[in-house]
Amino acid sequence: MLVVEAKLKNGTLEQYQRLDKAIRTSQFVRNTCVRYWMDNKGTTRNDLQKLCSTLAKNQDTPWVTKLNSQARQSSADRAWQSINRFYQNCRAKIPGKKGFPRFKKHSRSVEYKLTGYKLSDDRRKIRFTDGFKAGEFDLWCSQRTLVYYSEQQIRRVRVVRRCDGYYCQFLIDVERLEHHEPTGQVTGIDLGLKEFYTDAQGNTVDNPRYLRKSEKRLKKAQRRLSKRFRKGQKQSNNYHKQRLKVAKLHLKVSRQRKDRAIKDALALVQSNDLVVYEALKIRNLVKNRKLAQSISDASWYQFTEWLNYFAKIYRIVCVAVPPHFTTQDCSVCGTRVEKSLSTRTHQCPNCKTVLDRDHNAAINILKKAIQRGLGGFPHERLNQEGLKYLGEHLNGTVGHIETDPNACQESDLWFLNGNIENLSRLVEAGISRQ
Ligand SMILES: [Zn+2]
Repeated sequence: MLVVEAKLKNGTLEQYQRLDKAIRTSQFVRNTCVRYWMDNKGTTRNDLQKLCSTLAKNQDTPWVTKLNSQARQSSADRAWQSINRFYQNCRAKIPGKKGFPRFKKHSRSVEYKLTGYKLSDDRRKIRFTDGFKAGEFDLWCSQRTLVYYSEQQIRRVRVVRRCDGYYCQFLIDVERLEHHEPTGQVTGIDLGLKEFYTDAQGNTVDNPRYLRKSEKRLKKAQRRLSKRFRKGQKQSNNYHKQRLKVAKLHLKVSRQRKDRAIKDALALVQSNDLVVYEALKIRNLVKNRKLAQSISDASWYQFTEWLNYFAKIYRIVCVAVPPHFTTQDCSVCGTRVEKSLSTRTHQCPNCKTVLDRDHNAAINILKKAIQRGLGGFPHERLNQEGLKYLGEHLNGTVGHIETDPNACQESDLWFLNGNIENLSRLVEAGISRQ
């Protein structure tokens, strides 16, 4: 599946308002479904679909029937998605909050399936044909990519409202696969605040300066906004102006972040056969309310998502390992060396290793995956193989030796044959147990 995004341009104010109405209706349908589920025990997905058609016939809510019937269904699906996630969390007995479905107040999108819109033959225009009669918009993509796909390949169309306009996302059914030339390189990465990440070979990738700049600007704008906030009163025009400014800056930062994440993830996947990262403790991270922290949390998460995506396309292994003691333990002898947050170097009293803190962590992350990933196979032999393989990398000799994937026999089992996805599951299963 591939998502192509285009901006909806050259519509009149009224046309955009009609899109807004469609979005609001979709939200209404979703919330009604959630309400119905709360009031009726044992509601199934099918019941929600039936509810949609009842809603459309209801005289009290005449606007619902204007929304395309498949779009109504996908709103019900969205409600079911959040209900289902709640059920799954309960079943998995996740500690703490289970994500009880909530009512949406500021929904920003509406999803069509196969009907309710019409693309022009040259794919430069889209016309919305349901009861809201939003009419025709020009489609602006960076590349004219839509031309390459047939109408049958377009499975979903989603209209998204952002602070700088309306966008249309096309979900395209196409299997994307790229050729990966085995490099014989494996790496672990440690995501950090100071550097964006440090890999097991000791290379660092920094946060680019333009990002820091726009983050600074965002922080400043945010401060100004909170100064203008009047509790319990109607907000001033100046407040709303500033609010829009902050929203636009947020959008800009998130676009820059996304761009960076894609480039970094792609480069990492192309130059390695195995990439290991640390599963983030999302639950702990969410508690942190600081802006800088929350921005980097979001970008780490996004980065790992892209890593997994590219790993699939290039058919390499990308695994997450649990984040316990990766910073503390010595990557050479395994001695636990306590460190405070400000200690930047790892100094082992046992084997006298001195390493950068993040570099040490990255090596531990890689080691963990190799030890765990092999856990499901015959133990000793593969552990040794794994450690030997790791040892070669840590000594920096790999760049100089020929790596024929068939020459390393067992070791290629882990990441060069078809069981890639199984391996990922194997290692990730270890995380959920902890
Ligand atoms: Zn040591």
